[in-house]
Amino acid sequence: MTKRSLHPRSLAAQAMGKIDPLTKAVVPPIHVSTTYIRDEDNAYSSGFIYGRPDNETVHEAQAVLAMLEEAKAGALLFGSGMAAATAVFQALSPGDHVVASKVMYWALRAWLLTEATRWGLKIDFVETDDLAKLKDAVKPGVTKLIWAETPSNPLWTITDIAAAAEIAHAAGAKLAVDSTCASPVHTRPLTLGADIVMHAATKVLNGHSDVVAGALCAREDDAFWARVKTVRKMQGGILGPFEAYLLMRGMRTLHLRQERQSASAMALAERLSAHPLVSRVLYPGLPQHPGHDIAARQMQGGFGYMLSIQVGGGEQAAVATAARVELYKRATSLGGVESLIEHRASIEGAGSPCPPDLLRLSTGIEDVEDLYADLDQALSAGHR
Ligand code: PLP
Repeated sequence: MTKRSLHPRSLAAQAMGKIDPLTKAVVPPIHVSTTYIRDEDNAYSSGFIYGRPDNETVHEAQAVLAMLEEAKAGALLFGSGMAAATAVFQALSPGDHVVASKVMYWALRAWLLTEATRWGLKIDFVETDDLAKLKDAVKPGVTKLIWAETPSNPLWTITDIAAAAEIAHAAGAKLAVDSTCASPVHTRPLTLGADIVMHAATKVLNGHSDVVAGALCAREDDAFWARVKTVRKMQGGILGPFEAYLLMRGMRTLHLRQERQSASAMALAERLSAHPLVSRVLYPGLPQHPGHDIAARQMQGGFGYMLSIQVGGGEQAAVATAARVELYKRATSLGGVESLIEHRASIEGAGSPCPPDLLRLSTGIEDVEDLYADLDQALSAGHR
């Protein structure tokens, strides 16, 4: 059987099947050395020179992710999702124009509005789920990058990746997609025409809330990707070997976890839609979600592990609901095996498109009946 005929879940389960040549260990060792012996003829025949540009454990984890994302030009791991995302913008030049999703991870929006703008990037934020608005915002020959997050945190709007790629390419720009909340189990943006896919690998790729990591994958090994590689190498953004090992261990069970988490998120979204104390459920798997038809086309096997609810009683009722959960953990972040709940508006602050009555739910792998019962008691307690 050739590797090409194996399902990604089989390749991921065995982390590409690498066996340590020295000991025949099924789990490869963690490579910690920061420096490597130079040959007598002054060459570096192993290909490794120094730990900042390269590390074998990082390479092994990158190979798993590149396989999952069908990334022909490969993957690069970074010390956080923000380090990965900002490397893409730092690969641009001062004066370049960028169009970015209005609804996106709040800290990246804040960085774009402050640091990136200071450095000379011109950025317009638009609803990238509205293709007419996206097309209007893109300036042919001037716009160099469209940055789309889909599903977008925390409203879970859906950008049509194939259509956005067409708009980008017609204008001479690249399309980068933050696919953290879809994961390669449900969407492979590079196969839909995106040029770069980004992950906060801190989330479902690792899946156990114990690693901060980021990743970029590219379709083409072109001059832009070379710039991104230079940014990581020169600025020292590489992930450490221990974290790379943990991430690789997490990705071995990605499919199992993601399938369970998305199935539970769907079940919760449906049941919460009928809850008398919930005014609205935001989840792309629901037919009434504005992005549902596109999501049904570009997401396979599920709609992701993230959903949000708007609580009927408004902001105070939302905060009180989060205070009453017993099984859910009241904490930021997402994608781990444990379910999390968060009042997002109090994190995101002024300028956020997040409504004040919104609670964000990250669905873990616990029993879905237990999860629903916990939300139901937390919502209902103030009404008994
Ligand atoms: N993108 C999304 C969608 C996120 O949710 C996050 C973090 O929450 C990031 C990027 C940033 O990742 P990190 O926290 O690893 O820097």
